[in-house]
Amino acid sequence: MRCLDDKKFMNLKEVQNTFHTELDDLYGKEEVDSFFFILIEAFYKVSRLNLAMNPSATENDYELIFNALQLLKQEQPIQYILGETEFYGLPFKVNEHTLIPRPETEELVEWIIKKEPRFKTQSLKILDIGTGSGCIAVSLAKNLPKATVYALDISKEALKVAKLNAELNDVKVEFIEANILKADTWNTEFKNLNFDVIVSNPPYVRELEKQQMQPNVLNNEPHLALFVKDENPLLFYNAITQFAVNNLSQNGMLFFEINEYLGKEMIQLLVENKFADIVLKQDIFKKDRMIKGTKKV
Ligand code: GLN
Repeated sequence: MRCLDDKKFMNLKEVQNTFHTELDDLYGKEEVDSFFFILIEAFYKVSRLNLAMNPSATENDYELIFNALQLLKQEQPIQYILGETEFYGLPFKVNEHTLIPRPETEELVEWIIKKEPRFKTQSLKILDIGTGSGCIAVSLAKNLPKATVYALDISKEALKVAKLNAELNDVKVEFIEANILKADTWNTEFKNLNFDVIVSNPPYVRELEKQQMQPNVLNNEPHLALFVKDENPLLFYNAITQFAVNNLSQNGMLFFEINEYLGKEMIQLLVENKFADIVLKQDIFKKDRMIKGTKKV
């Protein structure tokens, strides 16, 4: 086995072999290849094809890729290692204060953009509650250029990332630091807005579901954004629905990402609060994952 001092004499193919030796047991060969190619593209601008055509390609600085290897060994998500990911075709910065955006959430954004063509032409006011990295707010702002988008989060650190993401994607989003569970933290300007669309992907994983989660999620992603108590799993949904009843305009729409096991309870919550045209929607994995309703009264 090579010692670390040998690093500088390696070519990239040999670095790839080291990745397999160190990581295959943990992730499997295919995923390790995928990590390796993502990293050499990001760090050295070397693509999979470049490497195939020039297997003895070398780099001056293997520090970066060997650091990444150590972090992968500790099961850190590749998105945090790179500090960046992609969501709805757009680049997003992420760190330990924000969830890594999920494909299910892209489906929620797609539902809002594609199924409501009138949103493209109307000057809507949209609010994203619990914005995290800002992925929902920023991708909506990018794709609904006539909309004014507001995004709220309790976490200062998450809001810093979300602001960077609005800049990175060249959109304007109004950010608000507040706790949706505590009306006294909302500033007055925000209190008097009347929204046409409210969207949220709040914390919804119950403590009892922890054992089904991957250790890389559990050990790295912010628990503040993930978990709710078993006894009160709809804590955020109750508060946000109440907020929507008071702050949506006539015909305004509420969109949620939801816990796959709580679809029935979510329908009931929206029915009780007199929402109309309620639709529960499954994600690509056939799990109840999204719900929408319209405020008619
Ligand atoms: N879908 C995320 C997960 O499975 C949870 C997101 C959330 O709690 N809002 O980890």
